[in-house]
Amino acid sequence: MTVTDPLDLIDIDSLLSDEERQIRETVARFVADHVRPHVADWFEAGTFPRELAPELGKLGVLGMHLEGYGCAGTSAVAYGLACLELEAGDSGLRSFVSVQGSLAMFSIWKYGSEEQRQEWLPRMAAGEAIGCFGLTEPDFGSDPANMRTRAVRDGGDWILNGSKMWITNGSVADVATVWAQTEDGIRGFLVPKDTPGFTTRTIKRKLSLRASITGELALDDVRLPGSAMLPGAAGLGAPLSCLSEARFGIVFGSVGAALDALRTTIDYANNRVQFGKPIAAFQLTQGKLADMAVDLGTSALLALHLGRLKDAGRIKPHQISVGKLNNVRRALAIARECRGILGGSGITLEYSPLRHANNLESVVTYEGTSEIHTLVIGQTLTGHAAYR
Ligand code: FAD
Repeated sequence: MTVTDPLDLIDIDSLLSDEERQIRETVARFVADHVRPHVADWFEAGTFPRELAPELGKLGVLGMHLEGYGCAGTSAVAYGLACLELEAGDSGLRSFVSVQGSLAMFSIWKYGSEEQRQEWLPRMAAGEAIGCFGLTEPDFGSDPANMRTRAVRDGGDWILNGSKMWITNGSVADVATVWAQTEDGIRGFLVPKDTPGFTTRTIKRKLSLRASITGELALDDVRLPGSAMLPGAAGLGAPLSCLSEARFGIVFGSVGAALDALRTTIDYANNRVQFGKPIAAFQLTQGKLADMAVDLGTSALLALHLGRLKDAGRIKPHQISVGKLNNVRRALAIARECRGILGGSGITLEYSPLRHANNLESVVTYEGTSEIHTLVIGQTLTGHAAYR
């Protein structure tokens, strides 16, 4: 009996260069050796092992698509394929890499001074220093323009007050990129951990993205030198440009979560016998598997198309919204459907689909909810901004 892998159904690999295929395989091997054997335990314990950070640094995926400062400088497609394989392991792992590379490192790389870049980027690329990105606040999620965190001048220094909520890596980071209102509009600041007045708390009792640390940041009269401000970032456009980078990784990453769920399910369905034959031999099961494989293939094609646009320097934010909206929504539907095919076994951590589905509940919400991306597309189509 020959079995075709879901992504081979339409031969996605034929659209990749040798180098892209190699990067994908290297990351897949890393996930198979270092992540898959342990990830259910991390998920159950609600933790992400810090020791993995230097390993990810050695793998070259931290700030992978950035040039210089110890970063690999790969194409956007290669970075996306790495995200795909990382998220096939767990969305928490891909979130760690996205936040480190596309949010924390990218904000410093793009908007930081040369001194800030030299200080942080090489150590962050090596996984020796961990970063986080604080935009969301308890009262302002989809609407960050109205954030309350404030930075005011005191001589040559800045004094920051406010709080940030739902910050990936927040309570384990060595440095936080914190966005705050100033009299000149929104600006970004680098806040090293242990700065007096800066405290963090890990958010507990999550049902989703459990193999990832999510934290709350509190800034209480935090005094920073003038050199802590990111000189190139002025206005909300700066943090939004960082989010566009991270969302791009999600467009690919969500394909990985769905792929792993579907592979697990096809294998299970071929081995689980009911009524004297494998459940994979029933037409209803095959109908579900075929629909999911078709959806997965179209999501992968969309991701690849957007990756090629990004590498050509032509991608637009609303196109990333199309990718995030479609691919995460479909990945979540696939992971849930897969869970059902696994029957009772599907509700345990022995199998990946429900873990992926639970994780994707966060992925649907963060980096712009489905509703906001829908309205971004609506605005592009009609010219009317319906969400503000
Ligand atoms: P709200 O904005 O309150 O939205 C609630 C609901 O209302 C949603 O369904 C939303 O779509 C809907 N809604 C809101 N406005 C509109 C509108 N105009 N029209 C229609 N519907 C609307 N943030 C960071 O800054 N850094 C991080 O590292 C980070 N990591 C995260 C990790 C996790 C696990 C999670 C869950 C979140 C993380 N976030 C992070 C925060 C995330 O970006 C926000 O949760 C998200 O932007 C939504 O904000 P909110 O939770 O306040 O929901």
